[in-house]
Amino acid sequence: MQKVKLPHQVDPVKSAVKRSDYQGVIASGDMERLLGAVVNCDEWVDAEVQFKKDAQGLTVFHGHLSTQVTLICQRCNGEFNQPLNVDFCYSPVQGANEIDMLPEAYDPVEVDDHGNVDLLQLLEDELIIGLPIVPLHAEEACPIGEKDMTFGKIEPEQERPNPFAVLKELKRDQE
Ligand SMILES: [Zn+2]
Repeated sequence: MQKVKLPHQVDPVKSAVKRSDYQGVIASGDMERLLGAVVNCDEWVDAEVQFKKDAQGLTVFHGHLSTQVTLICQRCNGEFNQPLNVDFCYSPVQGANEIDMLPEAYDPVEVDDHGNVDLLQLLEDELIIGLPIVPLHAEEACPIGEKDMTFGKIEPEQERPNPFAVLKELKRDQE
């Protein structure tokens, strides 16, 4: 199957009128910031994007991204492969007023003066946000398992005073 590359720039309103529906790929080589955040990324990111008008007449585009990245385990420093799957749902806006009016399910995305959205950059952001904050092997796959990590373990409940208890003390002092 031939891989159709997603356009980097789109006019979401026009695309919604045409009910454009992309099933294609993004070359990970075009996403330098993502490549900088991982050891390696599959050559292609599978991408589906649908443009439409919702029941209120708002322009929406939503879809799914999936690829595989190689990350460094923060427990053992070994490399491991992790699938990366991201769902997104955006509505184009111009200015803060329009952001306030959006339903919560829609993420606002600002269009430029020509009504275009930088789709590549937007979806790259989604992938970066989708990366684990602390990459770790699955426990059973990590040479340094959870059992070796028990040293220095503290019980947070006991070690740290409850912040509300401190507030209570302060209040009592004032009375
Ligand atoms: Zn590990």
